Amino acid sequence: MNITIAENAGFCYGVMRAIKMADDAMKHRKKIYSLGPIIHNPQVVEEYEKKGLKVLESLDDVDAPILIRSHGVPPETYDKIEKKGIDFIDATCPFVKEAQDYAKELYLKNYTVVIFGDKNHPEVKAHLGYADYEAVVINSVEEAKKIISEKIGVISQTTQSVERFAAVVAELSKNAKELKVYNTICDATEKRQKSAMQLAKKSDLMIVIGGRNSANTRKLYEICRQFCSNVYHIETEEEIEAKWFDNIRNVGITAGASTPSYMIDRVYKYIESIDEK
Ligand code: SF4
Repeated sequence: MNITIAENAGFCYGVMRAIKMADDAMKHRKKIYSLGPIIHNPQVVEEYEKKGLKVLESLDDVDAPILIRSHGVPPETYDKIEKKGIDFIDATCPFVKEAQDYAKELYLKNYTVVIFGDKNHPEVKAHLGYADYEAVVINSVEEAKKIISEKIGVISQTTQSVERFAAVVAELSKNAKELKVYNTICDATEKRQKSAMQLAKKSDLMIVIGGRNSANTRKLYEICRQFCSNVYHIETEEEIEAKWFDNIRNVGITAGASTPSYMIDRVYKYIESIDEK
């Protein structure tokens, strides 16, 4: 079997930065809190939990510094943290911060703010706060058709697909006199999506590694399914079944932005060991 890892796969800049900030903070303290899981990867969250990074769901009863994860938080969360006098480490990804700034700018300039993304994703929930909860979150061309306004300003959740964003923007352009578009889809996502697509085209089977709760991993899975008929989304090598590889020659591996490289290595080696049997 030929096993190929996608050119761009695994931890992105923002996740790597957040993990490094957590590591640095834990050198000096026994315990810190992360406001929600540090990344959408259960294995990494568990590993860090053991090291002293506790997942916090609410700001009550905090007795250690808080790490704001790469997805960011809405402005009122900063207000609450400051009011309570809690120390915090801000690991919001700079690309997410940029999208938050654009949401605020569009809102202040009286655009009807449209956020392309998943309304339940923490990054999108935070973006909404920067447009004072007056933005509309959409996730399809159908939903874009319903937005009619003189001035529309649009941003995207950083992990959305470039093609789908372009289709939504094309639709919005029919309904507005003025349309301002900030393409806030981050480079890392685009690169992972492109390399996953290229690899899926030449593979008989694709393995997508990443948390089931990771939006960008799920998106890689969807993209791979368009170009390859055997695609499996796994979190660890333990889920792999040897029978998947019967009559398979070319295997491709890709991984979401919250998947550590050690997990990619483990999956690679496990598939290699199946091939050797
Ligand atoms: S996917 Fe992009 S925007 Fe999101 S954390 Fe990673 S680098 Fe930042």
